[in-house]
Formats: sequence, structure tokens, C-alpha cells
Amino acid sequence: SALRSQDRWEGEVIEQRRSGERYPQWLQLAIVRNEHNEITHYVGFFADLTTSRKTEEQLRYLSDHDPLTQLANRSLFTHSLDEATATARSQGHSLSLLHIDLDRFKYINDTLGHIQADALLCEIADRLKEALPDAHILARLSADEFVVVEQGLLQPQAEQLAERLLHKLAEPIVLGGNELIISASIGISRFPDNARNSLQLINRANQAMQHAKGSGGNCYKFYSSDLPSPKVDRLHLENELRKAITEEQLLVHYQPKLHLASNLITGVEALVRWQHPTRGMLPPVEFIAIAEETGLILPLGNLVLRIACQQASQWLHEGPTALRVAVNMSVQQLRQPQFAVEVADILRETRLPANLLELELTESMLLEQSATVADNLTALEELGVKLSVDDFGTGYSSLAYLKHFPIHSLKIDRAFINELDEQSRDSAIVRAIVAMAHSMDLQVVAEGVEQDAQLAFLRTQGCDEVQGYLISKPVPAPLLTQLLQRRQRNGNIELSASNP
Ligand code: C2E
Ligand code: MG
Ligand code: MG
Repeated sequence: SALRSQDRWEGEVIEQRRSGERYPQWLQLAIVRNEHNEITHYVGFFADLTTSRKTEEQLRYLSDHDPLTQLANRSLFTHSLDEATATARSQGHSLSLLHIDLDRFKYINDTLGHIQADALLCEIADRLKEALPDAHILARLSADEFVVVEQGLLQPQAEQLAERLLHKLAEPIVLGGNELIISASIGISRFPDNARNSLQLINRANQAMQHAKGSGGNCYKFYSSDLPSPKVDRLHLENELRKAITEEQLLVHYQPKLHLASNLITGVEALVRWQHPTRGMLPPVEFIAIAEETGLILPLGNLVLRIACQQASQWLHEGPTALRVAVNMSVQQLRQPQFAVEVADILRETRLPANLLELELTESMLLEQSATVADNLTALEELGVKLSVDDFGTGYSSLAYLKHFPIHSLKIDRAFINELDEQSRDSAIVRAIVAMAHSMDLQVVAEGVEQDAQLAFLRTQGCDEVQGYLISKPVPAPLLTQLLQRRQRNGNIELSASNP
């Protein structure tokens, strides 16, 4: 009937060779009509399919796999998961689905460009293949989303697996001469505990993954029925945060930096906290992202800047000592054409000399190539404000571009300090960063110093300042004042003992 209505038909027919062997043939039939629309001919084309069967398998492979990483693609994944849930149901075993989403991939993609981002994704895929040689299913769903399905794991085993994958992905990747540290957020759902079918299983792993992202990334979360439904919660959070900014629920804590050569505390970092009326004290990871998304980061950032300058001014004028205060910046603040002017106003109002204010930027801000950002940085430098690069080593990590900006210091990310004594690799990185930074006249600050051994190593490397729990956790201003007074009484020799 297709032949009659469309004048053509094609399909597979089974033919028989003279030897009696049956073989598949592809038959295309077309109708030829004359000018009166009467059928004059049937034309048929036959093609032997035995050889093309092999190409067909290749074609199917191609349509089922992602050409970049050779992993199963979404369509094969959906199909395999349907089968896996059906088998699990009939045989009574469980499935664990891990939804893996790289953190900050959009940023990496924007800064590295597509070619390097592709190379990065291939490396991630290879690591997953290597870590999971017998995975029941391993697939890539979209740009930076991967999924793993394992049969019959108990919850602690699923936990171990997630832990192992996070670790594996966190190994540094060298791309185009730069070292990158990648992290991921993993959401885990389990069949049949959390889901009745494959669709639900996927959705719930995704929801758990969003929760992992919301908790700052680089972690895994299991699905549970009391996970907040993401959208409703965000809207609520936004409204609460708006109120928090005007109703003085935001506080600033201060974490001291120890200057190694003098053994003096010469600076502090201002870190915002939210004293939430019902949820207690919330760390920035709970609300900075939403502040960024909603634009609330502008009033929030302005408030923190004002409070920090006010406090530094009080330390300067009332004692015990002058301290440089460092304030974390959001790129949105630097995109405001009037930002440098606002900073100047705040300094004047709070009577703080510009050189006692430091603004912490991230590498991505310097790579923005926006004229407004560049103008702001120049204007701030002219004011006498110091600029530093935070979390150095986790982003683009190239010292070359720093030359173009009036940067005063680099803060080596906590990730490198963390494993200093375990991985000689990291000590090589830290050593290299310190040497290169010094050759460019930049000061080096190490973040997240927790152990004496780390401090000792950083001292031998000529690191200028250290910040971390070993010196002190971030504390409210009055506590920091006490800490400084106690150090002064004791001739500044006190270290770990000064930890409140
Ligand atoms: P950051 O600027 O890299 O701040 C350092 C973070 O490391 C702080 O976390 C600090 O409490 C933590 N930390 C310091 N020493 C140690 C240590 O020895 N061990 C460990 N495990 N952690 C240590 P916090 O306060 O939760 O802040 C997280 C991030 O939130 C900051 O990272 C910064 O990027 C952002 N942030 C904080 N305050 C503000 C703000 O006012 N504005 C903006 N835009 N971002 C902010
Ligand atoms: Mg910082
Ligand atoms: Mg940092």
C-alpha cells in the first residue's frame, strides 16, 4: 500500500541462492507512471545485504555511542537501563545509579575553548573507564554529564564507589601546559528502594546530584524523599536572603593570615556568614551561588565590603594593630562601571587607608577580557587598593596572564596544601608556584594550612603568608581582637595554642 500511495517501497526480502542458502536482500521498488497517471512500469533494485550487515553493526554502534568519548550515549543508556531494571525486578537484585556532573564545566569550556574542553572530556571518560572496567552501564548523557549503573551494590559499597570516582577525577589534568583540577557532583539513586521504574531512577539521581551541587560540589549525595524539591526551595531562599541583607542577618568573620618572616598577623580575610533565624549559622556555600544568580550578590558584596572596612578601620584606630582586610569579590561587582568609585566612597566613609584593603579575585575574572573589569582594576590600583588572586591552581593556572594586571599576591588553593605531605606531586606544584610568583614579584599566601608539617614545608619554600585552621578558624571580630592581644602579650610566639 505504501507502494500505491507513495509510488515507492523499500524493505528487506529473503532470497534463496541456488545452493539453497537463504540470504537477505534489500529491495527498492518504484512505480513509473505516464502523463495520464497510469502505471507503466515497476522498477526494482536489489542489493545483497550480507556484506552490509557488518557495516550496519558499525552504524548501530555509531548511533549508540558518543563519537567523542566512545561511551554509550543517551539513547543506548535509556535502552540499557530499561533492560537492567526489568532484569533486576525479575531476579530481585538492586541497582545503583550514579549521576556524575562536572563542576564549573561551563566556565572551563569558556576559558579553555572547545578543543581543550573536548580533550578534557575524553580524559574524564578514560578515567571512568579505567576506574570501572566492569561497569554494568557507563554512558555520557550530555556535555559534562556521565552516568554509571552497577548491579547489586549495598549502600556502603555505592558510597565507596562514589568516593573512589571523586578521587580519581580530582587527579590533576595537564592540558596545553596548564594543570587543571576537576571536581564533580554525584547523585545516587537506588532501585528498587528509591524508584519504581527507570525514569524515576534517573530523575531521582539527578535530584540528588543537584543537591550535591547545591552543597558546593565535589561530593556525592544519595536520593532521599526529604530532599528539598529544588525549585520551590530556591525561590524561598531568594526571598529569605533578600530579607537577610536588609535585616542584618549577615555577619562577617575574620580569619588571620600569618606573615612567616615576621611571625606577625598582618592581615585577615573577611568571610561572610548568614545567621539564619531558624537554620542557624550558614556558610557561604549555602547562599553565594543563589546570590550570584539573582543579582543579590551586589547588595550583599557591598554590605560585606562596608562591614569589613569599618572593622579594619576600628582595628587601625583603636587597636590592637593595623591589619589589612581582604574581601572576596564576585565578578558581577567588577562589572559595575561605578565599582571603583563605590570602593573609594566606602574607604572615605570608614576612614580606612586604601592600602589596608585587599580585594580577592579569581582567575576567571581576570580572563573576562571585559573593558569594564579592566578599568575597575586599574582604578582600584590607582586608589592604592591591593589585588590578589584567590584559589590559585584550580582554574586556568597560568601565570602568564597575571602580568597584564596589577596583582599583588596569589593564594594557593587549599587543595594543594591539603595533600602536601602525602603527594610529592603537590609539593612540586607548590614549589613551582612559589618560585614563579616570586620571579614576578608576587607575594604567595597558602590557604587551608592545618598541620605543622605543611607549615614547615611552606616555610622552606619561602611562602610569604599562611592562612588556615592551624593559625585560627574564621572568628567574629571580638575574638580576633583577643587573639591578637594574647599574641602580643606572649611575644607572638604562640601558634596552634592560639586557636580558639
Ligand atoms: P575562599 O575565599 O577560598 O575562603 C577560604 C575558605 O576556606 C573559607 O571557607 C575558610 O573558612 C576555609 N578555610 C580556611 N582555612 C581552612 C583550613 O585550614 N581547612 C579547611 N578545611 N578550610 C579552611 P568559607 O568561609 O566557607 O568560604 C567559602 C567561600 O565563599 C570563600 O572561599 C569565598 O570564595 C566565598 N565567600 C566568602 N565570603 C564571601 C563574600 O563576602 N563575597 C563573596 N563573593 N564570596 C565570599
Ligand atoms: Mg578568599
Ligand atoms: Mg580561596
